[in-house]
Amino acid sequence: MSEKGCIKCGSKDAKMKDMAIPGTGFSMFPNEFIVVFCNNCGYSEFYNKKVSSGSNVLDYFFR
Ligand SMILES: [Zn+2]
Repeated sequence: MSEKGCIKCGSKDAKMKDMAIPGTGFSMFPNEFIVVFCNNCGYSEFYNKKVSSGSNVLDYFFR
């Protein structure tokens, strides 16, 4: 495996959390996200839940 980590601090201690923003009403905007955040420095990124799934979200974060 290649070395990956948080782009800010290099930590590999990241967590994922589902997040929904209710009531947007616009289908062109996703209202469900997966939040990936670094447990060390707090840096976070948001991903559209519809195009992201499970482990590959962490691959996006650890690039
Ligand atoms: Zn970090």
